[in-house]
Amino acid sequence: MNPEIENKIVARGQEFFKSIAGEAPSIFSKGHWTGKVMDWAMKNEDFKVQLFRFVDVLPYLNTGESLQRHIEEYFAGNDCEIPAVLKWGAEKSGLFGGLAAKVMGKAIRGNIEGMAKQFIIGENSKEAMKSLRKLRKDGFAFVVDFLGEATVSEIEAQAYHDGYMEILDAMAAEQHKWDCLGKSGNGQDWGHAPKVNVAVKLSAFYSQAKPQDIPGSVAGMLTRIVPIYRKIKAMGGFMCIDMEQLKYKEMTIELFKQLRTMDEFKDYPHLGIVLQSYLRDTENDLDGLLSWARAKSLPISIRLVKGAYWDFETVMAKQCGWDVPVWTQKPESDICYERCARKILENHDICHFACASHNIRTFSYVMETARELNVPDSRYEFQVLYGMAEPVRKGLKNVAGRVRLYCPYGDLLPGMAYLVRRLLENTANESFLRQSFAEGKELERLLENPALTLKREQECSPVTHPAKRPSYGNLPPFKNHQLIDFTIPEVRAAFPKAIAEARKSKGKTYPLYINGKDVATQDRMTSTNPADPDEVLGQVCQAGRTEIDMAIEAADKAFLSWRDMPAEKRAEYLVKAAAIARRRIYDLCAVQVLEVGKQWDQAYNDVGEAIDFLEYYAREMVRLGTPRRMGFEPGEHNHLFYQAKGVAAVIAPWNFPLAISVGMASAAIVAGNPVIYKPAGPSSIVGYGLVEIFREAGLPEGVFNFCPGRSSVMGDYLIEHPKVSLIAFTGSMEVGLRIQEKAAKVQPEQAQCKRVIAEMGGKNAIIVDDDADLDEAVLGVLYSAFGFQGQKCSACSRVIVVEPIYERFIERLAEAAKSVKIGPAEDPANYMGPVVGPAQQKDILKYIDIAKQEGEVLVMREVPQKGCYVPMTIVAGIRPEHRIAQEEIFGPVLAVMKAKDFDQAIEWANASRFALTGGVYSRSPRHLEQARREFRVGNLYLNRNCVGALVERQPFGGFKMSGVGSKAGGPDYLLQFLDPRVVTENTMRRGFTPIEDDDNWVC
Ligand SMILES: Cc1cc2nc3c(=O)[nH]c(=O)nc-3n(C[C@H](O)[C@H](O)[C@H](O)COP(=O)(O)OP(=O)(O)OC[C@H]3O[C@@H](n4cnc5c(N)ncnc54)[C@H](O)[C@@H]3O)c2cc1C
Repeated sequence: MNPEIENKIVARGQEFFKSIAGEAPSIFSKGHWTGKVMDWAMKNEDFKVQLFRFVDVLPYLNTGESLQRHIEEYFAGNDCEIPAVLKWGAEKSGLFGGLAAKVMGKAIRGNIEGMAKQFIIGENSKEAMKSLRKLRKDGFAFVVDFLGEATVSEIEAQAYHDGYMEILDAMAAEQHKWDCLGKSGNGQDWGHAPKVNVAVKLSAFYSQAKPQDIPGSVAGMLTRIVPIYRKIKAMGGFMCIDMEQLKYKEMTIELFKQLRTMDEFKDYPHLGIVLQSYLRDTENDLDGLLSWARAKSLPISIRLVKGAYWDFETVMAKQCGWDVPVWTQKPESDICYERCARKILENHDICHFACASHNIRTFSYVMETARELNVPDSRYEFQVLYGMAEPVRKGLKNVAGRVRLYCPYGDLLPGMAYLVRRLLENTANESFLRQSFAEGKELERLLENPALTLKREQECSPVTHPAKRPSYGNLPPFKNHQLIDFTIPEVRAAFPKAIAEARKSKGKTYPLYINGKDVATQDRMTSTNPADPDEVLGQVCQAGRTEIDMAIEAADKAFLSWRDMPAEKRAEYLVKAAAIARRRIYDLCAVQVLEVGKQWDQAYNDVGEAIDFLEYYAREMVRLGTPRRMGFEPGEHNHLFYQAKGVAAVIAPWNFPLAISVGMASAAIVAGNPVIYKPAGPSSIVGYGLVEIFREAGLPEGVFNFCPGRSSVMGDYLIEHPKVSLIAFTGSMEVGLRIQEKAAKVQPEQAQCKRVIAEMGGKNAIIVDDDADLDEAVLGVLYSAFGFQGQKCSACSRVIVVEPIYERFIERLAEAAKSVKIGPAEDPANYMGPVVGPAQQKDILKYIDIAKQEGEVLVMREVPQKGCYVPMTIVAGIRPEHRIAQEEIFGPVLAVMKAKDFDQAIEWANASRFALTGGVYSRSPRHLEQARREFRVGNLYLNRNCVGALVERQPFGGFKMSGVGSKAGGPDYLLQFLDPRVVTENTMRRGFTPIEDDDNWVC
C-alpha cells in the first residue's frame, strides 16, 4: 500500500469521525429502549441469545397467554426475575408493578415491534411510499427490498412476485412527483442514477431452486424475474440482484448474465449484482464478471458488501465437513473488500460501483482510491442499510453526496427475521459499528489498514488446542465423510458421467462370491430400473441351499484364524475398504440411482454413511480390542476383553442398500465374525458393490461371502443353520420378528445361542407446536416424509400439529407438496421418484385406499404412468386409532393429525408400537424440555428433520417394535457381535505382590 494514500485514507476517516462526533446510531442510543436492551445484550451473552430467539418467535405469539408464557420461559422462571431492562418502558409508562403480567407482555411486544419498525420503511406500499418521500426529501436515494418469508411453494413465490409488482405500481404512480437529487435536472438523481431502484432476492422467486439443478433453478427464477425487470425498465429504473447464501451464488451469477444478455434488456444498463467479500472465492468471481462484461461489451454494476451470512456459512461448513468458504478473520474480509473495490474502480468504464457498508475505514478507502484513479462521481455511489448507522449515513451525505439507503418493506413476520439479522450484525464483536459507537475503540485502530490489523491479530492470537478426542491406535480420530456439496461444479458433473458409465454395464451377470471366488448359478433374478422397468440393469445369480452350505463352510473354516487376528489388523481391512469406497464414490452412487431410484444427494449420503461405518467400526474395534483392567486392587489382575461369536448372517434391506449392508457386515467382520451377506432382492447389484470393495481390500477367503437369493428358498435355511451364531438384520417388523422366533429355536448340533440384532420398522411422528417456525417445519416435514419417496425407516409418516397453528401449517405444507417435481431420480430437478419395485408399489397403493377411507385427502399428486410410481399423498383428519396412524407403510404417504395441545401431541406421538425416530418443531424451551423427557423414541430431533442420522454424531436405532439391539454407528454397537470374557489372575505368591503403577496402593 502506498503510504501517501494510506495517510490520506486515515486522515479522511478522522475527518469523517470528527464530523459526527458525539452522535450514535439509534440502536445504541441508551436513552431509548432499544439502546438499553442492546447494551444489556452486549454485556450478557446468555441474555442476547434468549432475546434474539424471543424476537424470532414473537410474531407467532398471537394470544396474551402464549406471549406471557414465552416471556417467562425465555427470560425467567417467574415474573420477578424478568430482567429490568426488558420491563423498561412498561415501568416508565406506569404499566408495570401492580399491573398484570399481561400488560407487561403487551409493552414488551410493543417495544420489540417498534425496534423492528426502525429497520423497515413500512408494512404496506402506502406506508413505504410515505417513508420514501421523506427519505428523498432528506436527500437520500433508496433501493427498495420487499421482505418475504422463505418461499416453500410456488404459490408463495408467486405472491412474492405480486408483492413486487404492487410496490412497483405504487412507485410508478409517484416517481414523477419526486424531485431529482443533486442539481442536474435531467430527470435522474445526481444526473445519472434512476430514481427507482429495487433489490431482489432470487431464491424467493422460485421455491424449487437448488444447487444440483442450476439450469432448472435459473429457468424457474427467470419466469418471475423477467416481468419484474421489464416493469422496472419501463419505469426507467434500476434492479440489483442481492446475493444470498453460497448455495445460490452460482445460479445468481448465471441468472444475472442471462438477464443482462436477453435481447430486450441488453441495451439497458441498469442491472446490478452483489458480491460478498467474505467469500474466499469472490475475487475470482469478480474477475470472471469483469472479463465477461468486457467480452460482451455490456456495462454492468456491482454492489460490494462484506456479506450477511457469515455465521450461517461457517456453521454449515463445519456441520457438513466442508472447507469453510468464508474468511475466518474479520480483517481478511476487509482486505478482500479493499482489493475488490480497487479492481472495480479500475474498471469503472465497464462497471459501476455501489460501495455498501457501514464502516468508515471502508468508505474512506473507496473515496481515496476513486480519487487516485480519477473515477467520475457518476461511476460509484455509497449504500447503507435503512435504520442503521444514522450518523455514518449523514456524514457520508455531507462528504460524498451520493448515498442510497437500502429500504426493506413488508409484514412484521418476515420483518422480525430481518431484525434478528440486523441485531446480530450490530452486536457482533467484530462489528465496526459496535466497536465505534458502543465500545469507543480508538480511532487509530478503527481506521487501520486491515492488512496491519490482521498481522497484529495473528501475532497475538492465542494458540488454540483442539478438543481432546480418544485415540485409536495408529488411526487418526474419526471424522464423518463430508456431505455432498453441489456448489462444486465437478461434483455436479460427476453424476451424469457416472450414471452413463454405470449404464455401460447393463446386461451383466452378477455371480455369488464364496470363499474368495465367483460362483455362478443357473437361477437368476433380473434387476430393473424402477423408473423404467423395461430397462434391465443386470442378472443376479441366486443362491440355493447348496450355495448357502458352501458359504457357511467357508466362513466356518475362516473363523478361527480371523477371530484370532489382532483387532488392529482386522481394522486395517476396513480402513482400506473405506478408501476404495471413497475413490469409487460416484460409481457406487450411480448404481443406486438406477437400481433403487435414489436421488443424487440421497445416494451420496448412503455411500458416505457406508464409508463412515467402515472408518468408525475400525476405530471402535481398536478401542474394544485392548483388554481393560477392571478394579485396581493390588495382588489381583482382572482383565475384560472380547472375542468374536462365530459365523454371522447379514440380511440387509434395499432402502439404504450400501450403508446398512456395509454397516452390518463390517461390524461383524471387524469383530472377527466371517459373514454370509444376503442383500435385498431389489438392490442386489448395489449389494455386489460390497464384493468389489472387500475383494479389493484383500479380505482373506471365506471372511466375506455374497449370497443373494430368494427368501422363500434360502431365508429360513440360513437363519436356522446350526453353524450361524449371529444374525444381523434390518427390515420390516414382520420379518424381524420371524427371524427372532426362528433363531430362538435350538437346532440339532447347534453349539451356542444365536444372537439376533434386528432393526425393524417405524411409524415416526413429527410434532409441530403452535410457535414452530413454519418456514423450517414445512420443509423439514416434507423432506422427512417424502425424501427417497418415504422409504426410510426414519421417515416421518405422521405429522401431529397443535391446533392453533394447524390451518396455517397444512395450507403451506400442501402447497409445498404440490410444488415439487416428481420423476426419475437421475434428473436432479426431481424431488421425488419411483418406489423401489412393483410389489412395494402395490402395497403402498393399498394403503392409499385405506387412507382415503380414514381421512380427508389434502394432496395426491399425479405421477408418471410408466414406472413404479405412487402418488405423493397427504391425508388429514387422522386419529391415533386409524390404521394409517399405526401401520408402517414405507412409502410417500403422510398422515396429518390435529392435537388440541402439546401434551396431547406427545401422547399421540407415543401411541405407537414403534419407537424409532421422532421430531419436534417448537420454540418453547419448556416444550422442548418436555419432549426430551417424554417423547420416547430412539432418535429424537428437535427443530430439524428426522432423517439422515450420521455415524457417531447420531447413533441410530429404536426400541419397542422398532428393534432389538443397540444403536448402529454408536459406541455400543460392536459389543453385540462379541462375547465378553474376563480373566482374573492372582499375582501374589507367598505374600509377595508386584505393585503396579495403577494399583490402588497405600499412600
Ligand atoms: C446497501 C446494502 C446492501 C446489502 N446487500 C447485501 C446482500 O445482497 N447480500 C449480503 O450478504 N449482504 C448484504 N448486505 C449486508 C452486508 O453484508 C452487511 O451489512 C455487512 O457485511 C456489514 O459490513 P460492514 O462493512 O457494514 O461492517 P463491518 O463491521 O466492517 O463488517 C462486518 C462484516 O465482516 C464480516 N465478518 C465478521 N466476522 C468475520 C470473521 N471472523 N471473519 C471474516 N469476516 C467476518 C461479515 O461479513 C460481517 O457482516 C448489504 C448491506 C448494505 C449496506
